[in-house]
This record gives sequence, structure tokens and C-alpha cells, in this order.
Amino acid sequence: MTRPPRVIGEADILARLMSSVAPTRDSRRLERMEDLVSLCARRGFIFPSSEIYGGINGFWDYGPLGVELKNNLKATWWQRVVRERPDVEGIDTAIIAHPRTWEASGHVEHFSDPLVDCRACKKRFRADQLDEAGPCPSREGTSDHDFTEARQFNLMLQTQIGASEDAASMAYLRAETCQSIFSDFKRVRESSRQKIPFGIGQIGKAFRNEINPRNFTFRSREFEQAELEFFCHPSERERWFDYWRRERLRFHIDLGLDASSLRMREHGKDELAHYCNAAIDVEYLFPFGWQEIEGIHDRGDWDLSRHSEFSGKDLGVTDPQSKEHYLPMVIETSVGIDRTCLALLCDAYHEEEVDGEKRTVMKLHPRIAPIKAAVLPLVKKDGLADMAQDFEKKLRKKFPTFYDQAGAIGRRYRRMDEAGTPFCICLDYDTKDDQTVTVRDRDSMEQVRMPMDDVADYILEKCSPERD
Ligand SMILES: [Zn+2]
Repeated sequence: MTRPPRVIGEADILARLMSSVAPTRDSRRLERMEDLVSLCARRGFIFPSSEIYGGINGFWDYGPLGVELKNNLKATWWQRVVRERPDVEGIDTAIIAHPRTWEASGHVEHFSDPLVDCRACKKRFRADQLDEAGPCPSREGTSDHDFTEARQFNLMLQTQIGASEDAASMAYLRAETCQSIFSDFKRVRESSRQKIPFGIGQIGKAFRNEINPRNFTFRSREFEQAELEFFCHPSERERWFDYWRRERLRFHIDLGLDASSLRMREHGKDELAHYCNAAIDVEYLFPFGWQEIEGIHDRGDWDLSRHSEFSGKDLGVTDPQSKEHYLPMVIETSVGIDRTCLALLCDAYHEEEVDGEKRTVMKLHPRIAPIKAAVLPLVKKDGLADMAQDFEKKLRKKFPTFYDQAGAIGRRYRRMDEAGTPFCICLDYDTKDDQTVTVRDRDSMEQVRMPMDDVADYILEKCSPERD
């Protein structure tokens, strides 16, 4: 930036009055998920998949704002976990893996939830969630369901490969992205010439045939994960586990999530998977309670030993100095991308009272906000619209922008507040004389006046990551 922006002065009072802003006010945070679900559909963040056909349970589509938010989150993870680290490599593997993968991982045998059917209404429920089943719509004289005995229901989604439909052509959509990191471990380590300790990261889709998808996108059947598997010597597993738990908490705070809505929850010994030595969840306080958005796990050598056994390939490594041959231990960090997006949206949602009217504002951090700036001519006439459009076209090459000339300026600000756009740039009659504009801050609603030439740098600086 060439010079600091000028604080609003007397000459700018007109523009300020037109935008009808008030200074500080009380904010109310999100209490009911319905309010967020409705805003997300209205503004195009997230809405049901196949909406015109009545939707499909457990599947969601990200709209124009949602995809930008999600991409910003993924890019932040990739930058921090993969690109900035000489000790981490990234990969992108197929969604369908060799079926033996899921035998080795234990998913074929163990990846299931207890399921019960109601003989009357034919609805299916998770046996551990029957208190939420509600009344049965199909029985006379009682509202109780007629439940079957519980049975285990495997959560992997199946598909057929090729033209034949025998057992040999059966495959699974991956239930987690990490398994191909283990099966590709040797190839990636050798091709990238990495030495232990090092990690492999991947972002991608995974699928679970959830019996009861719920809480908006929180528990859905198709979702995205960002996973890191970090391989280390057995003597260093505690140290790396401790390192990654701290590193991952910092990540979520840096995203702009309210620190008081984040906590680390350590799993009790009875909660741990049998191969897991230690596990900690990063949890966020949603309106429906504390829930996991990321898991950090000490998986020991379970994965590499199982894939060695099932593939018949030695996945061990030899220490170049001591010549010790061993299976590395794995520390895993696994982020639910959709869950973290949902946490960001819940966290950002605020309702405020401005001049007796309700303002809904999404206070997303400028780094992850879908649109960085909106360009708004005060009025359409007198060449202001043309000037604003030309200006927006220039900014658009540097960061995502939005142009809006429809309706009163106050209403346009409100639309951008709901979209989470951190800056609104208003061109007024003074702009024609002195090439200055006002830049309105979404959260404080305060405006600064600055030369048009300074706007791009001003906004880029606000949207760039904080470096330490
Ligand atoms: Zn029933």
C-alpha cells in the first residue's frame, strides 16, 4: 500500500447518510440451524442436491458462494500442510481402490452401524438413536414403531466395475481418503526421495451410506476430507502426535473461528479404535452441540502392517545410518472439509439491529470470504455505472468481486452482508472529480475514503494470510 486510507471526513457525510449506517450495536449469534439453512439456500452457499426432484437425502450442492468458500478452505489447508512443508508431499488418488484395500483396512468387516427396521412404516433407524425416532405414522392404536432386532449395516457404498455383474466386479466408493496414502506410501517415498519422518497429504471425496444423515451438511453421505498421514520412527510417535495436535488447533483459529467455540477432546481408552494409541478431536460448538470437525490419531503401524500383509509387499523402511529395518508409525490428521465449512458458516452468522431494522451479516474472515469486494455506483445515471463497471472489471483480475447497481445503496449493502463480502466500494459524484471512493467495512460498517488506485492493494492486504 502506498499510503494509509483517509478516515471519513465532512465531505463524505452525504455518502454515509445514504448508506444509513449506525455505529456499534449488539450482535446475536446463530441459535437455530434453520436460519442458517435458509440463508445458505437464499444466497447460494449450499442447498439440497437435485432440489427440483425433491432432493436426495444426505447429498448437498455448493452454489456460487459455497464453492468459493470451500475452495478457499481447501487452498488454505493445502498451503499450510503440503506446500509450505518440505517434509510433506501431496497426492490425488482414485476414488475407487482395489477391493482388497478395504479388506486390509478392516472396513469390510467392521465399518458398520447397528440398524433396525420398523415393520409397519418401513423406516430405518440407527439402533443407537431410537430416542429420536418419533412416532410411527403407520400403526393403529399406538404411535410406537414395530422394531426388528438390530443388525449390522455396512456403511460403504458399493458399485460395479465393467460390464459383468458378478462378485469379482464389485467395488466400493472409498470410505476415507487415507487408505490409498498407505497403499501408495512406498511409491511416493521413493519417487520424492523423502526420508522418515515425512508425511503425505490428500484432499478428496469420500462416501458413507449413513443410515440417518442429519444436521444439514454435518452428517452426509458424500463428503470431502483433507487428510495427512505423517510417518515417523517408533521412538518419535509421542513427539509428533503432540506437535500435530498443537499445529492443527492453530489452523482452525487462524481460519477465524471463535476460539471459545473450539476445544480439543481427548478420547478415553474405551473410545479408541483397537489400532489407535491416542486420539484427539478438534470440536466446534455448533447450535446442535460440540461436534468433531477434525481428528488427530496415533495409528501406530496398523495400516502399513495390514497393507504389507494383504499385498505381500514389504512397506518397511531401512534407516540409512543404523540399517535398522522397521515399519514407520503413523500420526494422522483428518479434517472434515464440509464440517469445517459448516463451522465457518455457523460462526460467521450474526444478527444485528441497525436503525430499528434487522441486519443479517456473515462475518467470514476476509481470507476465506467467497467475494472479497463489491463495487456499487451510488446511482446508475450520470456515467457512474459505466465508471463502476470499468473499475470492477479491473479488480476482478486480482480477486473475486461482484458488481451491483440494482436498488437503494442500503439494500445492496445488506445483500453483500449476507454474502459475507468484507468490503463494499461505493462510487459517488466526488469520484468523478477526484477519483476517490468509499470503502465500507462489513463488520464495523465504517467507511474510509481513498484513491481508486489504492483500493486493490488495500483489499489484498486485508485478505492475505497473517504470517508469523
Ligand atoms: Zn414405524
